[in-house]
Amino acid sequence: MNSIKENTSLKPLNTFGIDVNAELFSKFSSIQELQVLIAENKTQKREVLILGGGSNILFTKNPSQWIWQNCIKGIEVEYEDENSVELRVGAGENWHDLVIFCVDKNWGGIENLSLIPGCVGAGPMQNIGAYGVELKDTCVAVECLDRTSGVENKFSAIECEFGYRESIFKRKVKDKFIITYVYFKLSKNAKVNTQYGSIKDELNAMKVLTPTIKDVSEAVINIRKSKLPNPAELGNAGSFFKNPVVSKPAFDVLKEKFPDVVFYPAGDSNMKLAAGWLIEQCGLKGYRQGNVGIHSKQALVIVNYGGSKGFEVWDLSEKVIQTVKEKFGVELEREVNIF
Ligand code: FAD
Ligand code: NAP
Repeated sequence: MNSIKENTSLKPLNTFGIDVNAELFSKFSSIQELQVLIAENKTQKREVLILGGGSNILFTKNPSQWIWQNCIKGIEVEYEDENSVELRVGAGENWHDLVIFCVDKNWGGIENLSLIPGCVGAGPMQNIGAYGVELKDTCVAVECLDRTSGVENKFSAIECEFGYRESIFKRKVKDKFIITYVYFKLSKNAKVNTQYGSIKDELNAMKVLTPTIKDVSEAVINIRKSKLPNPAELGNAGSFFKNPVVSKPAFDVLKEKFPDVVFYPAGDSNMKLAAGWLIEQCGLKGYRQGNVGIHSKQALVIVNYGGSKGFEVWDLSEKVIQTVKEKFGVELEREVNIF
């Protein structure tokens, strides 16, 4: 039986390190335990917040929701042949541990996603991505439970409607399902993806000429360690904002005014702008406001210098959005989930 704790500190459970308390807190380690919580909530009738590793969350106040922490573990081989392997992975598995498990077996496809914090179950939420690879490239299906009825569902990757930091779970069926297992198809003869410029540079620095997936994973780990603040030392939730995607005509107007604007093609008719560049151009990189600030090496990351309240982070994010809008006419969208 799952225990229900009252007044639990969430400070160690969110990478921003925001000191808030949950009125009610429970963990579940299996579908059966989750079913018990869902049944119990038919009487409690509480709103529920599913917590993974807390690395993409900002708590602006003590959450009134009943917090359910997903601790479902397990990596099972569902199917295997000489070319590929299909895995069913518990949503509570640590993402980076899964990557290293696969890299060690020489199963390729997720090595570019090394060192992303958090749990496997949150991966499909925003279709996690980094260094030219997204979860959708290897995810084949997502198993979940309806939060209210407890009925089990399985969404194929197409049904998940994965997009740039997007999925059906953030939009159409937001707050409806709890992800319990994620299915991946990985390759036994993987071709490494080193298209992303900084990976090539790092492999050169490592003096690697014909990289294996392990080399790529190590290169990504090296780059990330050198650029990104470690949440264990400086509270943060990674990129606070998404890179905005604008139409070609809107981009042309911007480029005319700001010829140095950093951009990447996004499909046939859109352009992706580097939000970090926009923020930096506003003079906000390294900017500090009380206990919070914009990281000095990566302008997309808001950091907690210690003791900051969630609303202070929110206020700084508002300032960034306003300043970028005034200078460039572009509206930044928060990537971090706000509660
Ligand atoms: P949480 O923060 O616990 O939850 C995030 C959201 O998903 C919440 O709304 C939560 O309710 C919901 N949720 C979580 N689990 C479930 C579930 N099982 N079922 C239903 N809903 C659920 N992200 C990237 O995409 N690419 C990166 O390169 C990257 N780098 C990062 C670097 C740093 C230093 C940090 C701190 C963060 C980074 N992130 C990155 C963001 C974050 O790590 C990912 O989004 C990660 O997938 C979040 O996992 P989590 O378990 O911590 O989710
Ligand atoms: P970077 O390499 O300095 O690049 C800055 C931005 O330009 C990135 O946001 C990236 O977009 C885009 N970009 C760079 N090269 C690109 C290419 N060849 N094709 C398409 N887009 C390109 O970025 P960084 O901050 O060090 O991050 C490196 C990677 O880790 C990025 O993929 C980033 O998304 C990921 N990351 C994500 C988070 C998060 O919390 N979401 C946190 C840290 C790092 P994309 O973001 O679309 O890739």
